[in-house]
Amino acid sequence: MRVDILTIFPDFFRGPLDYGIVRRARETGLVEVNIHDLRNFTKDKHRTVDDRPFGGGEGMVLKPEPIFDCLESFGDVAPREARVSGSVKQSVILLSAQGRTLDQSLAAELSGLERIVLICGRYEGVDERVSQHLADREISIGDYVLSGGELGAAVIVDTVTRLIPGAVGNEASTRQESFTEHAELAGDGPSSTCVSGGLLDYPHYTRPADFRGIAVPEVLVNGNHEQIRRWRRKTALAKTLRNRPDLLERVALTEEDRELLDEIKEVSSR
Ligand code: SAH
Repeated sequence: MRVDILTIFPDFFRGPLDYGIVRRARETGLVEVNIHDLRNFTKDKHRTVDDRPFGGGEGMVLKPEPIFDCLESFGDVAPREARVSGSVKQSVILLSAQGRTLDQSLAAELSGLERIVLICGRYEGVDERVSQHLADREISIGDYVLSGGELGAAVIVDTVTRLIPGAVGNEASTRQESFTEHAELAGDGPSSTCVSGGLLDYPHYTRPADFRGIAVPEVLVNGNHEQIRRWRRKTALAKTLRNRPDLLERVALTEEDRELLDEIKEVSSR
């Protein structure tokens, strides 16, 4: 996959994309990330990337010309209609608080593309013509306002990269994580393995078994795989019920899940 990031702060990306899975994926060529300084696409001597908003009001707005010129300089980004219709595996994404909220299924969709362009806004935002005529989608990383799109772009690169086959050493591990749903398990539910099935992940423990007098749950050290599976499912359900009850509405629960939820609710109501 090739990723191009358009920003007025290219140095921002020194660091966030240089560690762990993303670093390895870049080194092995699984993902190529190019950072582009929008100031290089200005034509005036002050290298102006922003201007006052039409209609008045506070703050500055990123100008459309440097963004259009930068994208057009790549020479191989397909026309917007082809990207919108899905006839090419490319997407030009505007980071925006007004965008569709990023979630694991959107990340999975993006991980199947060959080419992603990420446009980072700043100040009051980006001239709307970028959203209307250049980008094919707007993505928000959550319901809060950032000072710029750069953190959002780094979040997208991270979450999408780890879903590209070959990026994570043990692929089973990305499939067991929080939010991951499994079409192949839709029939009988995630009963035979410890995949999260759209729930939050179960708790993890490692050595020492006793840390400052706090022991790891006994069930995890007794070697009974069936008990471990059931405990993990129950704790995943309990954490989801506590922190993200909305997810339970969307998940296909098994008979066992319902029993476990009843046990959890009974204990918490005592
Ligand atoms: N006036 C805008 C906020 C501008 S913040 C509004 O009220 O919606 C400046 C830039 O930060 C935006 O152009 C966008 O690129 C980025 N940004 C802010 N919040 C974001 C979010 N939740 N997700 C992704 N990008 C965000």
